[in-house]
Amino acid sequence: MSLPSEVDVAIIGAGAAGLGAAHALENSGLSLIVLEARDRIGGRGHTIMAAPDVIFDVGCGWLHSADKNSFVQIGEQLNFEINKALPPWRERAFGKAFPQAERDEFIRALDAFYDRAEEAARTGRDSPANLCLEPGNRWNPMIDAISTYVNGSELDQVSILDMDAYEDSNINWRVRRGYGALMAAYGASLPLAFHCNVTLIDHSGPRLRIETSRGTLTAGKAIVTVPTNLISDEAIRFHPNLPAKVDAARGLPLGLANKVTLALDQAEDLPREGNLRAATMRTGMGTYHLRPFGQPCIEGFFGGRFARELEDAGDGAIAAQAIDDIAGLLGSDFRRRLRPLAESRWAHDEFARGSYSHALPGHAGDRALLAAPVGGRLFFAGEATSPNFFSTAHGARDSGERAAREVMGTIAAR
Ligand SMILES: Cc1cc2nc3c(=O)[nH]c(=O)nc-3n(C[C@H](O)[C@H](O)[C@H](O)COP(=O)(O)OP(=O)(O)OC[C@H]3O[C@@H](n4cnc5c(N)ncnc54)[C@H](O)[C@@H]3O)c2cc1C
Repeated sequence: MSLPSEVDVAIIGAGAAGLGAAHALENSGLSLIVLEARDRIGGRGHTIMAAPDVIFDVGCGWLHSADKNSFVQIGEQLNFEINKALPPWRERAFGKAFPQAERDEFIRALDAFYDRAEEAARTGRDSPANLCLEPGNRWNPMIDAISTYVNGSELDQVSILDMDAYEDSNINWRVRRGYGALMAAYGASLPLAFHCNVTLIDHSGPRLRIETSRGTLTAGKAIVTVPTNLISDEAIRFHPNLPAKVDAARGLPLGLANKVTLALDQAEDLPREGNLRAATMRTGMGTYHLRPFGQPCIEGFFGGRFARELEDAGDGAIAAQAIDDIAGLLGSDFRRRLRPLAESRWAHDEFARGSYSHALPGHAGDRALLAAPVGGRLFFAGEATSPNFFSTAHGARDSGERAAREVMGTIAAR
């Protein structure tokens, strides 16, 4: 779509939050435009065909807290099949690498850690979550590894109050055709301008002046949904400056999670939807999903410092690590049965700069600070502003709706 010279509301970013905001405003009578730096809808939700028979979500894949997840109903309305099978990461293990008795012991240690964390949060002190590890417990490195998957970061960088605020109903479903594909369908009817990188929002005059890579437009109001790392790096700037927003974004950095998918020969030898992981006492380790939806592939997931090391090592390093791990666990003949198809590099993605936000210790309150409107004209959404579903796609979408309600509230109040 061509860039209008003026609109009532400009929404910056066509990820889940921007789409949620735009849908909430589409019948408001206000003129709208969604300004998106990429050439596609979805942001950190992105589905690709990694091979003719392998659908791969490069970003979000799970409908977390599915019983409270607004994308479930959207998926059903848009005729996207929702897969309600249990996720493999807890109960189902494959192979001898992590025997069931050990796995049970680990799950008990993990649950006890979460109980201690909940108790610690009741004190109201916002300490680093690693203080809730039991000193000397043999499973501590693996509990930390779980944090790298969930938070994109090790526990020493995670606020205990923030971790406790997350609402997990433990029901996790999937979208058969891909979460990113669902977002693309959800956004298809909206007024979108692609390749439109917003560099400055000047809020010094009577109207907002928005500078983009495709020219300048003015708006009555703007909803900013870009990831926190772009605000803290000042890749998108405000005039006058908004130091409180930059500080809040710095307290909510994006951690890192990366995914890889590998084509698997003679796939039928392995179970569908299996989980493969070693009981190695390391935090830097991958976890593997065997044949998701029965597809002939294995998906790997890496988080935290280890994911960053692998991403920094260059293209192909994540796939090479995954093949080494799987061959180590299942036997060296797997080397010739596996072939890299695709891997993510979210830290190097210019318009994401990481995977999902976590609050640093002492910064649990920053989510509300980041979400707060400025001057009745600038509104903020995105996963990092969600009070209880941060780091997720549905939390992002709902935050966009919340920002749209705030916009409407300022208009009704006039
Ligand atoms: C590997 C990985 C796995 C994940 N797994 C899950 C999961 O299983 N379940 C789940 O719920 N969530 C998961 N997430 C998190 C989820 O994807 C995000 O929380 C959610 O998609 C964020 O939506 P958002 O709208 O806040 O931000 P984004 O999706 O990042 O949207 C922001 C948009 O703004 C655009 N943009 C940035 N800067 C500018 C600019 N200057 N001008 C214009 N446009 C700009 C970006 O291109 C982007 O499209 C995962 C994420 C990753 C990376």
